Amino acid sequence: MSVTQNITELSRRLPGGVRLVAVSKFHPVEAVAEAYAAGQRVFGESRAQELSVKAPALPEDIEWHFIGHLQTNKVRAVVPHVSVIQSIDSERLLRAVDSEALRIGRRVDVLLQVHVAAEETKFGFTPEELYAIAPEAAALQGVRVTGVMGMASNTDDTARIAADFRAIRACFDRLAAGAFAGQSAFATVSMGMSHDWQLAVECGSNMVRIGSDIFGERQYF
Ligand SMILES: *Cc1c(COP(=O)(O)O)cnc(C)c1O
Repeated sequence: MSVTQNITELSRRLPGGVRLVAVSKFHPVEAVAEAYAAGQRVFGESRAQELSVKAPALPEDIEWHFIGHLQTNKVRAVVPHVSVIQSIDSERLLRAVDSEALRIGRRVDVLLQVHVAAEETKFGFTPEELYAIAPEAAALQGVRVTGVMGMASNTDDTARIAADFRAIRACFDRLAAGAFAGQSAFATVSMGMSHDWQLAVECGSNMVRIGSDIFGERQYF
């Protein structure tokens, strides 16, 4: 199947109200251009350097989402290109993005990354950490927190994956009713990748991030 066919098929299968982020990391500009021609406008990248090369080479109405671990020293390079930074995984990073946004006079939308998966290596805040910093995050002027992003454990155990997704959704619901109550922009629950997006949607996702199912296997260069 071609990139165009994959986009068309996914758009047909995704329920209304669920947004698709086409994860183009490690795929060339030509692949993004093909998806763009098929109507896709939202793309996800995970490396500052790659984003800085691709974004200027592609149409300006693309909405770039940064989805990888972001070091604070790369914030300045990433902010000018992105609509959303989905992977805010520490208070230090949140503050660095806020400062940079204030410095350049632009508000940057961000998602707070929730860590519920079994792997210690994954990044993000535990739900308890998020509840603790949420009031401060909600008051920032440089960033606008528009929701949460998370990943399930890397396992074949469907029950565990579903439990992880439900925990991420529950965290979002509690924040939406708590620190972000009254902020209608706080509305995004980004969870679900190529292999688990259907389950993620069943568990309350309204934004899926899909790479391989659109572009094929990544060539790591
Ligand atoms: C790479 C990546 C994806 C896409 O993964 P696929 O399995 O290729 O769909 C989604 N989310 C994040 C955070 C990623 O790093």
